[in-house]
Amino acid sequence: MPSGKDDQSLRIAVLGAGMSGLAAVAKLKEAGYKDIDLFEKSDGVGGTWRDNTYPGCGCDVPSHLYSYSFDLNPDWDYKWSLQPQILQYFEDFADKFGVRPHCHFNSEITDCSYDEASRTWTLTKADGGTHTADVLISGLGQLNIPSIPDFKGKDSFQGPSFHSARWDHSVDLTGKTVCVIGNGPSAVQFLPEIQKQVGKLISFQRSPAWCRPRGQRKYTEADKRAFDRQRWRINWYRWRIRAFADFGFTAFHQGENGMAKSMKKMCLKHLEDQVKNPEMRALLTPDFEPGCKRILISDDYYPALIQPNVEVIRQGVKEITPTGVIGDDGMEHACDVIIYATGFQSTEFLTPMQVHGREGVSLNEVWKDGAEAFKGVAVPGFPNFFLLYGPNTNLGHNSIILMVEQQIGYVLQAIEKIAAKDVAGLDVKPEAMKAYNEKLQADLGKTVWAGDCASWYKTESGQVTNNWSGKTTEYAAIMREFDPDSWQVIPSA
Ligand code: NAP
Repeated sequence: MPSGKDDQSLRIAVLGAGMSGLAAVAKLKEAGYKDIDLFEKSDGVGGTWRDNTYPGCGCDVPSHLYSYSFDLNPDWDYKWSLQPQILQYFEDFADKFGVRPHCHFNSEITDCSYDEASRTWTLTKADGGTHTADVLISGLGQLNIPSIPDFKGKDSFQGPSFHSARWDHSVDLTGKTVCVIGNGPSAVQFLPEIQKQVGKLISFQRSPAWCRPRGQRKYTEADKRAFDRQRWRINWYRWRIRAFADFGFTAFHQGENGMAKSMKKMCLKHLEDQVKNPEMRALLTPDFEPGCKRILISDDYYPALIQPNVEVIRQGVKEITPTGVIGDDGMEHACDVIIYATGFQSTEFLTPMQVHGREGVSLNEVWKDGAEAFKGVAVPGFPNFFLLYGPNTNLGHNSIILMVEQQIGYVLQAIEKIAAKDVAGLDVKPEAMKAYNEKLQADLGKTVWAGDCASWYKTESGQVTNNWSGKTTEYAAIMREFDPDSWQVIPSA
């Protein structure tokens, strides 16, 4: 338990029962806080791993690293685990760490407003009910609201259509002609699965992405026993995956560098090894440098795309008709089902929820030109409000759980200060925020994400709002110690 704490009776509200919210509650409990309420809009825990149930859904970060450092799991079946086992891990975590008694399921929060006089947050639920808290922590993350572009004629399509993150398992794809729009990390996982089942698969690719080999590995019972009996093996393995991935971060720097060259070489070789037809290879070769968009990781994506029942359309979508999809060239491709693998509303953090800080200022308004936060966790004018997996904390190369654990450690230090008797709150100083983000954006300006390539990492105006600018160790270094000089203390009323 942290020393110097005067008061553990703080009322703490956590939003979202995904990977961040669950860990936050576990760590708050460990620190001795008791009055914790977690609000989750769905009926269970797991967040994105509950929402995404598409065939082949899995993690493109090795499981021993895509898991909490304080809840190592020796029982992963695969190096790259599949969604059911990942969801089970979070379900088990919620039980093991006693998170469930703090959860309010089917409780979507639509508005959070700070009251200056009482120094409290009022949360309003979709059903109109309210809840008051001293501290508010958002674990809503960056990828929770699916995005379906507003294609002309979208609603006229007569067959079933759904987003990959809301897979409609009642639709039988057997023998059907299925049109998949989008070719990001979600599509690359389900496409090889449905290709075996459908009659014809039409893959609309506005911009083909770089793809590298995955090298799936199934762990034997002996492997699992060794991981279980000698936990240092997991820690050593975690360290190696993390260090190797961080070492490769220079591949994301702009300009010619050895790491970027070898990444491109690896991806081109993967394409050449798996796609022998030169015309098909040309069709699937990206026209941007690797890393700008997330690099796909798959061994069965290209082999699926070259099957006789697959047609790759390297075009954007002009229109949806009652019977199919029209590409940019004006040609209609008839289909029975449309699957939108078109990603998430990633740059619209926290929407559609409203957050109002001091003097009723709206966070959406503050973020209208692009979301930003101090170290990804706080915004001036929104006292005692902390974000997990907030702006500029996403990674293209390593495990996001590492980042979230750093954020939770930092937020716990902040809450420890708030818990002191004569303190009602902490508000990050505007000048600290400005200095932090100026440096961050200058660093991001040197990365491929800032280059001439659209991705979910940045806004339409080009501001990179989602990604961290460096290695996970560099982020850990700035998050280790709470920096009181960057914060304004709000005294008790
Ligand atoms: P995404 O990476 O944002 O990909 C969206 C796809 O839809 C892209 O191919 C994009 O084309 C296309 N698209 C979007 N708007 C379009 C439009 N108006 N017309 C035509 N095409 C359009 O989405 P995602 O595949 O769902 O992946 C999102 C993120 O989720 C990933 O980067 C990853 O972080 C996470 N994810 C993780 C895992 C995991 O294993 N951990 C698995 C799945 C997803 P353009 O490229 O041309 O824009």
